[in-house]
Amino acid sequence: MKNETGMIFAERFLRHDTGPNHPERPARLESITTKLRETGMWERFTHLGFEPADLSWIRRLHEPSYVARCFAACESGERTIDSADTVIGPESAEIAQLAVGGVLAAVDAVMAGRVNNAICLVRPPGHHAEADRAMGFCLFNNIAIAAEYLAVQHGLDRVAVLDFDVHHGNGTQHLFEHRRDVLFISLHQHPATLYPGTGYVHETGRGEGEGFTLNLPLDPGSDDDVYRHAMVFKVLPALKAFQPQFLLLSAGFDAAKDDPLAQMNVTPSGYEWMTRFLKTQAQTLCEGRLVSVIEGGYDLRCLAESVLLHAGVLLEPAESNDMMAVKSGFF
Ligand SMILES: [Zn+2]
Repeated sequence: MKNETGMIFAERFLRHDTGPNHPERPARLESITTKLRETGMWERFTHLGFEPADLSWIRRLHEPSYVARCFAACESGERTIDSADTVIGPESAEIAQLAVGGVLAAVDAVMAGRVNNAICLVRPPGHHAEADRAMGFCLFNNIAIAAEYLAVQHGLDRVAVLDFDVHHGNGTQHLFEHRRDVLFISLHQHPATLYPGTGYVHETGRGEGEGFTLNLPLDPGSDDDVYRHAMVFKVLPALKAFQPQFLLLSAGFDAAKDDPLAQMNVTPSGYEWMTRFLKTQAQTLCEGRLVSVIEGGYDLRCLAESVLLHAGVLLEPAESNDMMAVKSGFF
């Protein structure tokens, strides 16, 4: 098995202009790429080419009227869409379309076996975006469209989306809560204490999708141990029961201890542990097929350090499951 990790990044993602003082700013990705270059890790990735996604993929989950409205708002010079916190510039819809295209290219590369796994350093983020509206800095739901693409284009019957961003992935949940072919698991700060106010334990899916949404709200102040416990005792059994053919990560790094938008205490090494744990599960369950897509993370130092360790684990040679388990601290 090759030991290659795909990288999705384009300078154009920095041109999604959210103006001064917005937490979701171009410097986020710059801090990550600078760190990866300084440490020499950048050259170790297989840098994947990509194009803007065909709009038909975006329109499969987002209402066509919303997609059109998003492009029109950018073209007409509007500065926000649907809520005051979701700032747009003239190129934002096109850049969001490019971000989706990047994630789909990562999925294709993993499915074709060109790389083992991949990381997508994209902006704008996606997991809050709903079928009919932008929300929480997100325009198009990158991860959800990737899950749909895996089901339709690659014919997969079971795709798991694991969202460890500190905010609940409301958009992803709502797009799939009625379906049983996509398992959505979210670990987030308790909705009574943090935006967007959804993601309670009792939200478990609807109709045919009942039981295929798993929300794991965590108290403010939760640290690495709390996340490890949730991973081992909640996430692992759910993944094993579902037997996914692909694991998608909504990788937000805003549960970091210094993040300005939330009140959690995860350290960079906590993210490293979680990554190794999830990579191990992907290796056991689905031949290591895993694509990580950046969502939030607003303290630049924590973000860069955490993504460095996250990406470093993805780059590690595929080892025997026993060795991975030892490294994950199971024994
Ligand atoms: Zn977030």
